[in-house]
Order: sequence, then C-alpha cells, then structure tokens
Amino acid sequence: MAFRCPQCNTCNSLQIELAIDLPPDRTSEELSLQVVSCGACGFRSLAVCDVGRGDCPESESWKHIGYWVRPDAVESVSMAIRSCPEPRNPRCPSVAHTSLGKKDLRGEWSGLLEMERGHTFAMRLFIGQS
Ligand SMILES: [Zn+2]
Ligand SMILES: [Zn+2]
Repeated sequence: MAFRCPQCNTCNSLQIELAIDLPPDRTSEELSLQVVSCGACGFRSLAVCDVGRGDCPESESWKHIGYWVRPDAVESVSMAIRSCPEPRNPRCPSVAHTSLGKKDLRGEWSGLLEMERGHTFAMRLFIGQS
C-alpha cells in the first residue's frame, strides 16, 4: 500500500514503515498507529487508521489521517513500535502498547500530544493511473 506524499506530492511514494495495532476505544473498532515515510524526499510522519464503530457493518467509517509531527516525535514512536514483540496484537501488555494506547477518562483514545499540535493531511491511495 502506498500513498501520496504531502511534502513532495509524489504519488505512491509514501509507505507504511511501521504500524502498531492499539486496543479499540469507545468510538472505534480498530485503531492502528503508523509511521509513514516517503521514498522520494525522506519525509516521515505519523498516521492513524481508525475504523469507526457502526450500527451495522455497512456503516463502518474508515478514517486514515496523517499528522505532521516533529522528526524526534516520529523517532520516539518508531522506537516504541520496534520495542514491542507483538505490534499486531492490540492486547499485548508491552510498554509500547501501554504508553501509545492510553485512553482518556471518557474511554476514548487520547492520541499523542504531538498529534494534537500538528497539522493533518489525508492519506490518499493512488491506484491505477497517477
Ligand atoms: Zn515525499
Ligand atoms: Zn506491545
């Protein structure tokens, strides 16, 4: 799966480098935090893929959003993901899962502080002609 890079605008150059599946929160069914990087310009950022909880399977809402964050924040998240023995297991008890998957008092995933400050971009898939 490759996406369009928001920095150099090259289609199909933004790849998911690392991903960790987090425990679903009150509003989502699946939650995945990703480190994405561009092979063309070296851009790196974070992305979140959030599959919403719907009343029926047809109403599932997909949200895939990229976040511009500082390089050191990207690096600390990628180090955390690499330290986890089972990034695909949302119930994994590792430090990475505990710290990245924190929920707020309402039971919603609180995300990362860096992501609240950052600008977002749409993760766009380009299939076929680009
Ligand atoms: Zn790029
Ligand atoms: Zn883990």
